[in-house]
Amino acid sequence: MSAVPLRNNPASALRKRTVSVLGATGSIGDSTMDLLRADRDRYEVEALTGNNNVEGLAKLAREFDAKFVAVADPARLSELREALAGTAIESGAGESAIIEAGARPADWVMAAVSGAAGLKPALAAVDRGATVALANKECLVCAGDFFMDRATAAGACILPADSEHNALFQALSSGNRDELTRVIITASGGPFRTWAAADIEQATLAQALKHPNWSMGQKITIDSASMMNKGLEVIEASYLFALEPDEIDVLVHPQSIIHGMVEFSDRSVVAQLGAPDMRTPIAHCLGWPDRIAGPAAKLDLVKIGQLTFEAPDFERFPGLRLAYDALRTGDGATTVYNAANEVAVAAFVAQSIRFGAIARLVEATMNAWVRGGNLAPLTSADDAIAVDHNARNMARSLLPEIAAKAS
Ligand code: NDP
Ligand code: MG
Repeated sequence: MSAVPLRNNPASALRKRTVSVLGATGSIGDSTMDLLRADRDRYEVEALTGNNNVEGLAKLAREFDAKFVAVADPARLSELREALAGTAIESGAGESAIIEAGARPADWVMAAVSGAAGLKPALAAVDRGATVALANKECLVCAGDFFMDRATAAGACILPADSEHNALFQALSSGNRDELTRVIITASGGPFRTWAAADIEQATLAQALKHPNWSMGQKITIDSASMMNKGLEVIEASYLFALEPDEIDVLVHPQSIIHGMVEFSDRSVVAQLGAPDMRTPIAHCLGWPDRIAGPAAKLDLVKIGQLTFEAPDFERFPGLRLAYDALRTGDGATTVYNAANEVAVAAFVAQSIRFGAIARLVEATMNAWVRGGNLAPLTSADDAIAVDHNARNMARSLLPEIAAKAS
């Protein structure tokens, strides 16, 4: 059986579940805690994690009476213990504690740590055969087939929490794999959808952080402006559902109402729609294989009036083209794509490169990686992490040259 289950189990009944939330203090974490709060009696919280937001994490741990909490920053352990004083909540710090949180015995785990740091904790949950709601797309982009193979081997169930992939997951149960002809993931186009290339080149951080439809963490909001997020999602869809790059299309849909569509051999296209609110796909994962009540606004298509569509522009948004290149290249190229992008976004936030240089740094790193003969299949988490580490170093070494170059 594949790690992404494509048919609902009619025999299931709503039952109590133990849950852990990796990245509880982030944007996805916040939406997940909101859903847990709405039905407190149904969920028992096993573990919660954060990076360095000790205050927010301790507050959640107390509110939900978590059994274990962990912060990634080892220097914050004593502060965390102080904040939990008088409770029986166990605590830990550092990468090993975040991994322990994934390994703790929860039925359902939300994997919502941001970046490649989310890989090992998610694998800890996967390896014990848990149901893992996967928000962290970097797990797939960095470790690809290896991540899905581990999930299949362990009998883990991967539920896509990313809205587009959740939409595909819902639509895919309308047919069989051999009847599928392509999937379509939508993109809002971000704040620079209608901008000229020269203006995108010079865009400021404040402009990149103004997403028209979604409220999300900083990194993914910048990735949405560059359309690197859609590139990461094309890669994510390929690994999640075992699709070839040619079977995945991107469609710009500025209203973000249709999240994903699946086309079948009879030319039926099945779509999932909803208001742009991450609590809907997260609720789908939390309830699966049943449906639970979601707090998002009811979809009012009369009020919205029009749904419009455009082809993606690979010239103004080269990050999207590079994602298809990385996917076709394989052998760790998608890991390099992600690592170089993380370095580029951090440099943009630190104002050491222009917005337009993000994609240039990714392309230069991918080219240097291939020229250097570094492509090789990934066979372990350590392989993926080593490629991630080396690609970051390569991207950092190329930064000064890219920063100095005009577009
Ligand atoms: P945020 O930046 O809002 O939150 C990230 C979470 O991870 C926080 O809890 C943060 O802790 C923690 N964290 C950060 N770095 C580390 C680390 N090195 N080790 C352990 N924990 C760490 O991100 P989002 O919630 O926006 O995104 C999370 C993931 O979900 C990303 O992979 C993103 O691509 C994906 N996603 C997000 C969507 C969204 O709408 N936000 C939509 C679809 C996918 P602290 O708070 O202490 O910093
Ligand atoms: Mg998405």
